[in-house]
Amino acid sequence: MIIDSHCHLDYFGEEEVEAVIARAVAAGVGRMVTIGTSVPQAAAVKALAERFPEVWATVGVHPHRAAEGPMPTVEELVALADHPRVIGIGESGLDYFYDKAPRAVQQEGFRRHLRAARATGLPMCIHARDADADCARILAEERAGGAFPFLMHCFSSSPELAEKAVEMGGYISFSGILTFPKSAELRALAARLPEERLLVETDAPYLAPVPLRGKRCEPGYTVHTARVLAEVRGMSLEALAAVTTANFHRLFTKAA
Ligand SMILES: [Zn+2]
Ligand SMILES: [Zn+2]
Repeated sequence: MIIDSHCHLDYFGEEEVEAVIARAVAAGVGRMVTIGTSVPQAAAVKALAERFPEVWATVGVHPHRAAEGPMPTVEELVALADHPRVIGIGESGLDYFYDKAPRAVQQEGFRRHLRAARATGLPMCIHARDADADCARILAEERAGGAFPFLMHCFSSSPELAEKAVEMGGYISFSGILTFPKSAELRALAARLPEERLLVETDAPYLAPVPLRGKRCEPGYTVHTARVLAEVRGMSLEALAAVTTANFHRLFTKAA
């Protein structure tokens, strides 16, 4: 079985989400995590996780949406996560490519989510784009106040940031970007990271992997990314699936 560690099922229509999940299960993606992107949206991901046994949820405020409303306090994030099917915090982090919220607001949100991850012991799903230096600095500064579990989702930053994250105990999750022709450097990184820190995801409905690139992405497509990761690691798909599933459960300890 393969687990999609990061998707956005609430972006699919109410009438089609059941079929999307069924197609994932049929493809061998038996579990998936649907991701929180704002405080009001938390109810939607919790409802999906209550409705489908294959689905877990996280809660948090995406950096794109960090200025939409008041950023929740650490205590508010901890309270939001208090639900049997919520297994992680986020996604939060820094996106200096789109810069949809002021950077200072993104940074404050990032810090609060990291502290909520520390307080709850739930892993933090980090979104980082074009923000390597600040991401590494804030992770290190916040770790000085006590460790927290985390993963770098949809990893496409520099090898240096991946290596720093791994040093700090983090996990690295690869999306369909790994399969793109231009991603040779990313595949080289994926080949050499420690096996026990690797995860796979889709970020559906975005970033469909080759050979489905350009289509709307679904959690079932995780298999294509997993196959490329297995190839670059010189493993069978079955072995890679076993490793990433074990890694997932080591990180997401609440996912029973
Ligand atoms: Zn993201
Ligand atoms: Zn996402």
